[in-house]
Amino acid sequence: MKKVMDHNELFTRPEYKEQFERKKTFENCPSDEEIKKVADWTKTPEYKELNFQRQHIKINPAKACQPLGAVYCAAGFEGSMPFVQGAQGCVAYFRSHLSRHFKEPFSAISTSMTEDAAVFGGLNNMLEGLENAYALYKPKMLSVSTTCMAEVIGDDLNAYIKQAREKGVIPANLPVAFAHTPSFVGSHLTGYDNMLKGILSALTAHKKGEPNGKLNIIPGFDPYTGNIEEIKRILNMMGVPHTVLADVTDVFDSPNTGEYKLYPGGTPLEDAADSINGEATIALQKYSTQKTIDYIHKHWGQKTVTTNPIGIKGTDALLEELSRISDRPIPEELENERGRAVDAMIDSHPYVHGKRFALVGDPDLLLGLMALIMEMGGLPAHIVCTNGDKNFEQEANELLASSPFGREGRVYVGKDMWHLRSLLFTEPVDVLIGNSYAKFLWRDTGTPLVRIGFPLFDRHHLHRYPVIGYKGAMNLVNWIVNTILDEMDRKTMHSASFDVIR
Ligand code: SF4
Repeated sequence: MKKVMDHNELFTRPEYKEQFERKKTFENCPSDEEIKKVADWTKTPEYKELNFQRQHIKINPAKACQPLGAVYCAAGFEGSMPFVQGAQGCVAYFRSHLSRHFKEPFSAISTSMTEDAAVFGGLNNMLEGLENAYALYKPKMLSVSTTCMAEVIGDDLNAYIKQAREKGVIPANLPVAFAHTPSFVGSHLTGYDNMLKGILSALTAHKKGEPNGKLNIIPGFDPYTGNIEEIKRILNMMGVPHTVLADVTDVFDSPNTGEYKLYPGGTPLEDAADSINGEATIALQKYSTQKTIDYIHKHWGQKTVTTNPIGIKGTDALLEELSRISDRPIPEELENERGRAVDAMIDSHPYVHGKRFALVGDPDLLLGLMALIMEMGGLPAHIVCTNGDKNFEQEANELLASSPFGREGRVYVGKDMWHLRSLLFTEPVDVLIGNSYAKFLWRDTGTPLVRIGFPLFDRHHLHRYPVIGYKGAMNLVNWIVNTILDEMDRKTMHSASFDVIR
């Protein structure tokens, strides 16, 4: 049988090596010495200063674009087909990004806008797209978002959808939610928030009735399906009736039964429509749910609470809130879980205490990780949040100021991983936490990397493990401390300190 080679093996063959050499000559590539000289210069404080003056370009930013967040949210509802008014290439990016992170197939429709739509407007694409989508895929709901192109030319989704109904392109009673999601502002978090608000306002219109005694949970743009499983487990243990809104668990962690399902799960539309009659709504993230929470508070008149249940304090706060709202006690089983998480942290803290950390990622995740690291005596040093805003900056600084372990921390809002590279060379840390793209920082600087966040392309299955709750705290401690121990092994490999017991 002929062996199929991966590229890392294939490109070591002589014909490819020769081709690479010819390419270097053709491109008039600088000498190896020159490349090394420049590479070394990029590690200096002088370069860092120039790098931080950079204004008009982002290099390796830790963010994705608005409609990606919108289609992710849309996938979390029963029979909902994400439908994007825009170019095919954008939707291919959303689908591949989500499929690569979750290792699941993922469907989303593009209206395939091209140059003619850019000139004449996207109405025809929208009408044809809606007609085809309904005829082919028979969704229970279409969830429409936009790409940059549709936004630049000013496509009006509300008017287009109205016309589609009037022309009989889609059934009059088919729910069609929409959100304008221009990617030249905001990020995947904004897109998630806009789409969720759009879906809830579409489904709950005229549904205000008697209180249903249930608690609504909004996970936010959460790349861990394990987190949604975990919050449901906690609520079931406490006996709290609930509805998880935008429940992506079965969509992005669907069982392989040998049968492909186009719509593998999601929040039932009936439950989503009834969420307007819930007792209260709890968001597990702040920065991806702000508009939705504001809408629920103002338009539904519901009690709303935002929590961040990462780490011990964060989980304590969530459970106390759940207990207060539902008037139910926190079960002994959860108290025991807390004890186990605290025990794991005590066992691990000698390896974490006093270690300097660099963190890059989304705002809520960063705040949760900073809290957990400081709970173990670790020192968050560089906190880089490409899509953070002034509010995040203030919140992160207040969190750092609340602990003696936060004294070395500095928050960098709007900065990217190339900025972080400069920081890692000029003010090194012991551990780096970030998504798969942070592996370039690991390669360049040698800083041990703990992969936490979105996207995670180069390691498998991590999304199934929760990072929220006491179980999540134990997972995080496990990943962090075992990375530190791996590094200790690597550094002591040829010394008497290379030991079995750590
Ligand atoms: S930034 Fe705009 S053009 Fe680029 S993928 Fe996102 S929506 Fe498409």
